[in-house]
Amino acid sequence: MKIAIIGVGTVGSAVATAVKNTGCVHEIVLFDRDGIRARAAAEDLGHAASFGFDVKISAVNNYRGIRGSDIVIIAAGANQKPSETRMDLLNKNADVIKDIIPRVMVNVDAKNVKIIILTNPLDVMVMLATKLSKLPAARVIGTGTMLDTARLRTILSRQLDVSTQSINAYVIGEHGDSSVVDWTAATVGALSLDDFCKQMKISLPETTRNTIAHRVRNAAYEIIRGRGATWDGIGAAAADLLRCIINDEHRILTVSTVTGTGNDMLAMSLPRIVGANGVTATLRPKLSATESSALRRSGKIIRKHYDEII
Ligand code: NAD
Repeated sequence: MKIAIIGVGTVGSAVATAVKNTGCVHEIVLFDRDGIRARAAAEDLGHAASFGFDVKISAVNNYRGIRGSDIVIIAAGANQKPSETRMDLLNKNADVIKDIIPRVMVNVDAKNVKIIILTNPLDVMVMLATKLSKLPAARVIGTGTMLDTARLRTILSRQLDVSTQSINAYVIGEHGDSSVVDWTAATVGALSLDDFCKQMKISLPETTRNTIAHRVRNAAYEIIRGRGATWDGIGAAAADLLRCIINDEHRILTVSTVTGTGNDMLAMSLPRIVGANGVTATLRPKLSATESSALRRSGKIIRKHYDEII
């Protein structure tokens, strides 16, 4: 299994590290428009690889070097500076995706390749990449709210004193400021979140839930304030998605892919079944009326920004 990572900055390097540590791939090629950076990353990662799985890691000077890649991960583009929103990156990163996708497509097997998008604003970039690549929507996948979902589960795990592995709670909609926590469908083990709280005598009133949702939405801003960028969480999320595809795991992940056509075309995160063919099904989650209307609003925000760049 050969994979290519386009954009080897903070995020691309973290993704390469996390992917290397899965042991699922035998070759990783790195491309960045800053060739010196890509070569330095390949050197450093190659040294790290000698302590673990046998993975060949190299930097390539041009897109011909990605030929034979089964999966292409796009982590290129401007990142948020403190106080910038993801949508503030819209025009800059639309140009990056417009630059990269056509070059990728002439060097991969369009019948099989899967493209994973990490570049923000994530959902709009997934829509743009799907349009430009002309690939089936199922094979252009954004990590979407996988990371937001991980953030929610981490906070809940601390609050409820139960493992993240036993919490099935999802963040859906935009990977951004309008994301929606689906409290209605949340379960802990086999119990609804409400039943779990009753049995364990834990109080989780609406005010606390609102604070948790706010902390999830704000997590990236806090991390960027503290360490300049975010990378470990997204690296792990991308590697997890990659493993799910490579091993055909059919896990349910909150990834972003395009549904609909024309004016109804939209990418946002919903719980979706993911395997070797990409996204094979989308599940409609149980939502309250408030959550439904927040999800519709989130979709409108994504679509409005997509319309600005095409
Ligand atoms: P960075 O500045 O550290 O690295 C970006 C890299 O992209 C640079 O090395 C740059 O040379 C390269 N690049 C830019 N344009 C390119 C092009 N046209 N072709 C090839 N390479 C190009 O930024 P970062 O912190 O690594 O963030 C990268 C992207 O990932 C940003 O858009 C950021 O918002 C996004 N991100 C997404 C998530 C998520 O959950 N999806 C999380 C964190 C960051």
